Amino acid sequence: MAHTLSWKTELVQAYRDLFAPPCDTALAVRGAPECGLGWHDLLDRMCVRIQTAIRAGGTFKFSQIKEKYGTLRVYWDGRLSAEATIQVEEAIALAEARSATCCEVCGESGRLHSDGWLTTRCATHAEGRAPVEVKPGLENIYIVSYVAGDRNQVTCRRYDRGTDTFTEVDPASLPVEE
Ligand SMILES: [Zn+2]
Repeated sequence: MAHTLSWKTELVQAYRDLFAPPCDTALAVRGAPECGLGWHDLLDRMCVRIQTAIRAGGTFKFSQIKEKYGTLRVYWDGRLSAEATIQVEEAIALAEARSATCCEVCGESGRLHSDGWLTTRCATHAEGRAPVEVKPGLENIYIVSYVAGDRNQVTCRRYDRGTDTFTEVDPASLPVEE
């Protein structure tokens, strides 16, 4: 437990400017991570990217960093330029996608498991939970639709854990989900 407390404190202290006003303990800081130690590294990568994105100015604070349905969810408040907002959202999308490939306990390569509750775990920390089946070809695929001007855009990307990047995927190349 002491260890869990220390990595969260460390993260908040390392990126103090991204978190809401100072508090005595990291756990009392709004936006302090509510997830396991295994995700420390991906949160660290995300914070570095966000610091770069907001360098040009504006305001940014995490409002919540938590695990939900087995993967990371990150929420923030602030006012940034459109360009910085896109970069921040991209940093968050990468971290959320990475969380689906990282054991929340140890950080090793993992996948979604279920025993009624969804969790991302490596084989060692699955502890009897069953892996959630994903149709072959749809692993780590993220489809996002958004409005750009007067058009509805759809992006379809695959997250690659090795390079920690997204690559564009032609939606027509994917197997049809039933
Ligand atoms: Zn593990």
